Amino acid sequence: MSRYIGPSCRLCRREGMKLMLKGTRCETAKCAVEKRERSMAPGQHGWRRARNSNYAVRLREKQKVKRYYGLLEKQFMMYFREAQKGTGNTGKQLLELLERRLDNVIYKLNFAGSRKSARQLITHGHIYLNNRRVDIPDIRVNVGDKVTLKNSDHSRKIVRAQLESNPNFGVQNWLVLDTSKPMATITALPTRDDVQLAVEEHLVVEFCSR
Ligand code: SF4
Repeated sequence: MSRYIGPSCRLCRREGMKLMLKGTRCETAKCAVEKRERSMAPGQHGWRRARNSNYAVRLREKQKVKRYYGLLEKQFMMYFREAQKGTGNTGKQLLELLERRLDNVIYKLNFAGSRKSARQLITHGHIYLNNRRVDIPDIRVNVGDKVTLKNSDHSRKIVRAQLESNPNFGVQNWLVLDTSKPMATITALPTRDDVQLAVEEHLVVEFCSR
């Protein structure tokens, strides 16, 4: 499936917030959002103050979510339409569906430093879901699913190095991680509170429902 291959920091600068797209670099002073001279929007006219029309505000909220999870427009709209079909709050359901993507789970287990690295880990065949090799990053996890690694020293080495690089990483309550193997179990479905992105999802719904 196609994906964005342009500069990641540009996306954060456009949204004016840290979307944590580059792993450990995002925590350092090298982050473009932290640097004063690079914190403005990208492009020749980035220094200009953006017009905050109703349309622009809603567009930015939608783009934030899309870029945070590394989706293209078509993929994002497929999630939105699915969320719309369900009963309940569409915005919350949209975020909950996105949170259940396997690449997001791998990132939240700290098996990879970013969602982009998590996607690579999956497509390269290092990840097993319920003892079956998976190479599709957008597979949706369910309660009781087990995430393990390929039985190879190379796979274990990659993931252990990541786990050791960030030992204070807090794994969320809906995931149970066993660092000794390493393996994890999904014990509950994620809720809106588990989404660590400051976004007003009702504005996303308003934009996509036009
Ligand atoms: Fe965004 Fe990370 Fe780049 Fe900072 S370092 S601008 S958070 S991708």
